[in-house]
Amino acid sequence: MSSITRKPSRSIARNGGTKTACIRTFGCQMNVHDSDRIRRMVRDAGYTEVHRYEEADIVVLNTCYVRENAVDRVRGHLGELSRLKGEGYVEKVVLIGCIGATSEAQELEHTYGVDLVLGTHNTYELAQFVGLPGMEETYTPELPGSEGEHSAFVTIMTGCNYKCSYCVVPAVRGRMVCRPLENVLDEVKRLVDTGTRYVTLLGQTVDAWRESGSRFCDLLERVSEVAPRVWFTTSHPSNMEDRTLKLIGEKDTIVKRLHLPVQSGSDKMLKVMHRGYKSERYRRKIEVFREAVSDGTLSTDIIVGHPGETEGDHEQTLQLIEDCSFDSAYIFKFSPRCGTEAAELPGAVPDGVTQRRFLEILRAVERNAFSCNQSKIGATEDIYIRHARTGDGKAVGETWSGHPVHVPTDAEPGRYVTAPISGAGPHVLYAGEPLGKSH
Ligand code: SAH
Ligand code: SF4
Repeated sequence: MSSITRKPSRSIARNGGTKTACIRTFGCQMNVHDSDRIRRMVRDAGYTEVHRYEEADIVVLNTCYVRENAVDRVRGHLGELSRLKGEGYVEKVVLIGCIGATSEAQELEHTYGVDLVLGTHNTYELAQFVGLPGMEETYTPELPGSEGEHSAFVTIMTGCNYKCSYCVVPAVRGRMVCRPLENVLDEVKRLVDTGTRYVTLLGQTVDAWRESGSRFCDLLERVSEVAPRVWFTTSHPSNMEDRTLKLIGEKDTIVKRLHLPVQSGSDKMLKVMHRGYKSERYRRKIEVFREAVSDGTLSTDIIVGHPGETEGDHEQTLQLIEDCSFDSAYIFKFSPRCGTEAAELPGAVPDGVTQRRFLEILRAVERNAFSCNQSKIGATEDIYIRHARTGDGKAVGETWSGHPVHVPTDAEPGRYVTAPISGAGPHVLYAGEPLGKSH
């Protein structure tokens, strides 16, 4: 990169003498949350956060392993970082997260000269590496990651007890561990006291949360009485109770959006995947949700091209999309992950076929989402601002149904504006000028 001036020698400190760290996050919201914790550690150790590798003394990559291309992306970054190290820019590279918990990590460490590799269970060891005292207890998942922010993630469980054929999560995150109710509530109260207005409860299967007699619905109810705005992700259809779906409709503080990954509309594929439910049961859950939450939105995850998926299975997924009328979906092409059952299964689906099915599903979801979103035009919505406007652009907010909205306002993140919906695409709504001031 010839346009960058060569880094000054280590004795001439930059940024007024402080050390600098760059944290890059790949993958899901669990990783985003873990990165909050990593950020606190490096800040506590006296590092200033920077956003370009060239300006960083230490680079932390918090990685994802769920699909193959996630590893390819990280390889690209590691390649660039080892080159920058050679040119005297970056001093240390740390690889953390789900890749760090796999056997592939050793190869990456060796090939790219990574200085420290940590899995998801020993992230706290970073503390010592950046010069803090050993802090095993201080940085466990029990502790808040992002106090004082307008919106915050709160982990309520880690790991997963399912064994879906395709999924590497149980291998890298371990079995389910539920965080005690009182502990979750304490964190939520602390966050709300320090200005948080939006709490997202996190876990791989949040609705599987339980603690001596209490279930997820009880926890959600308690949190919804403390936090001004609450959402939760991800849920598993086998654990989703009707009373939870009803609670979403009843409590004003719960965002009326359900993310319930279905993966496939074919019972044969659901069985091969070990999902533990049939498509009919999923449809019934959605009926309960639609009934209980009249203006709710629904999103899902779908895997295309899992080994053994036939044209008939694919047709059934398309039918389910039509029946459930999803507002959005994360659609994934099957990616064989080492050590999972599906990686060894016969019946691989050719890439071209997977690609075509992927596009058919995408179009079906978008077609439906577009017409649902169009029907919102003319409504007046209370919009929670998530990202402030940049330049002359629009701020990005969210309705109580969880719809993303672009809105022309200078309101800060964490505030609400009330505005009419004036346009809609398949993925976002567009609002007109807000009525009155933000609140
Ligand atoms: N715990 C969540 C999902 C975690 S992974 C749940 O069970 O719903 C997020 C999504 O990635 C999954 O829902 C699935 O759709 C997708 N996914 C996971 N492993 C995959 C693989 N090997 N290939 C393609 N998609 C995958
Ligand atoms: Fe993976 Fe299945 Fe567990 Fe979700 S429920 S994390 S897809 S094993």
